Order: sequence, then structure tokens, then C-alpha cells
Amino acid sequence: MRDVRVTVLGTAQDGGVPQPGCARECCLRVRANDALRRHPVSLGIVGADGSTHLIEASRTMGEQFEIWHSADPVDGPLTSLSITHAHLGHVDGLGLFGKEAMGAKNLTLHCSESFAALIENNPPWHELRKQEVISPNTWTSNKSFEPSPGCGFTINPIPVPHRDELSDNHALLIEGVGCNLLFLPDHDSWSETLRGSTIRKWLTELNVDIALLDGTFWDADELPHRDLSEIPHPTVRESLEMLGDRKEGDPDIRFLHLNHTNPLCNPSSPEAAELASKGWALASEGDSFTLERL
Ligand SMILES: [Zn+2]
Ligand SMILES: [Zn+2]
Ligand SMILES: [Zn+2]
Repeated sequence: MRDVRVTVLGTAQDGGVPQPGCARECCLRVRANDALRRHPVSLGIVGADGSTHLIEASRTMGEQFEIWHSADPVDGPLTSLSITHAHLGHVDGLGLFGKEAMGAKNLTLHCSESFAALIENNPPWHELRKQEVISPNTWTSNKSFEPSPGCGFTINPIPVPHRDELSDNHALLIEGVGCNLLFLPDHDSWSETLRGSTIRKWLTELNVDIALLDGTFWDADELPHRDLSEIPHPTVRESLEMLGDRKEGDPDIRFLHLNHTNPLCNPSSPEAAELASKGWALASEGDSFTLERL
């Protein structure tokens, strides 16, 4: 048996950084410096029995497996996949499991009932299911499940409001031995997610030690050409106003799912300095957490 370990495999919003078609400074800077590139959000978890579990299926999975293997070398095919919701960057790598690429056999896909229904209604995904590439296994909201027997951790899917034109959305609480990590890459607003609670109270109730939170936009001025009400996310500025400075006993909070326009994509920006001065952090690809408190 080994430790249960979660590795961050992606920190960008669905479009990735740089974003296709963006010729502005935000992406020119990244194209000139590979170290600033970001993949769509994803996590890799290795269980106590060496089983391997992927969260989200991004089109850049190939490079993301390499990030995973350098942080935590493991062998063998993937044991399970879990998907939070049906938006682009969370699902656009599903086809890579098919015959044309990895040729997976009955890969367990943990998802909500609404996502499983979408698989049946989307011909390419339906075909993956029919060819027994993926084998959907539906979870119940707020009910922890073991992604594979003996993996040494459980996942609690927490329903979280987020534009649901294709499927519903869940935050995933990954529960190890005395140490829990919350993965909340997308939600529409804190008021809908917290329903009267505060961020601290909510995280305490869920026993969260490490929280990877939606950091899509820094503030509302970021996308002058787009209607932000069509792509709602709480801004990092708003989250910081609600959180204030980090206090003793607070969880380790790191923001991810960064849009290419987010100044936090530039580690030497004043916004990145402001985040750090409050005691909070940005998630980095390759960050790795042991979910075991001895
Ligand atoms: Zn997303
Ligand atoms: Zn850009
Ligand atoms: Zn989304």
C-alpha cells in the first residue's frame, strides 16, 4: 500500500492558455514562454493500491499524463474517470479513450445521471459506450463513493449550480485518510453555491483541508467584448473580499480554471502579488498532495 496522492494536471479554463485565436498581449506573452502555458483543469489521483483515477477528460490529456507521471510515476491503464459537467474542456478528450487512440476497455466513468443521459444522446459518446470503451456508473449527489474497490479514498459529489444547458454540475470532495481536497473548478455564483453560508463555514462543514477553487476571472472588467452574465463565475476579487486574509486553521486555498484574460496567468502581475499577500495561492500544474494525515 502507498499514499493516496492527488496531482494537479491542468489549471486553465476550458479554452486553455494561450486561447486559440487570441492575438492580444495575454496570449502573445504565453506563446513566447512555454512555462506560462496552461492546460484545461484536470486532476490525477493514485490510490493506496496503485490504482489510477482521472478527473475530467481534456483534449490535452496526453501532455497531462506526462505531468502526472513526472509528479507520481505509475504504470498501467487508467482505473477510473470522473467528470464534473459537460462543458468543453472537461469532456473534449473523451474520444481519446476510443479505438483511434488508447483503445480503453470498459473504463469506469463516474458521473451524474444527467451526464449519463447526455452520453446516450450524443452519438460519438453513445458509440464509445456501445463499443464498451467507457462504462458509465452514476453517482448520487452528496453520497460518497469509492471510485474502485480498495483504492483507499472516496469521492463525494456535491451539486453546485452552473449553466446547465447540457448537464448538471458537481464539485468533487476527494476524501482521503483524515485529509480532504475539494475540486470546484466551475460555479455560477457564491450566493447560489453557499445558500446563506460563508465560504469558511461551508469548507469547514465539508472538512476541507485543501480547496481548488474557481478562479476563472480576476474581475468584471476583464472581458469588455463579452457579456459576463452569459458566462457567470464568481471573480477572484469577489472571493478575496469574502475571504479576507488567511488565518490560522484556514484550509489551503488555491485558485485554478484561469481564463486567458486573467492577470493571474502572469505570475509577476500585481494581482498575483495581491493574492499571495493575503496568504492564498494559485494552483500550479504538477502540484501534488498526499491525502493522508498521520
Ligand atoms: Zn470549465
Ligand atoms: Zn488571450
Ligand atoms: Zn463549465
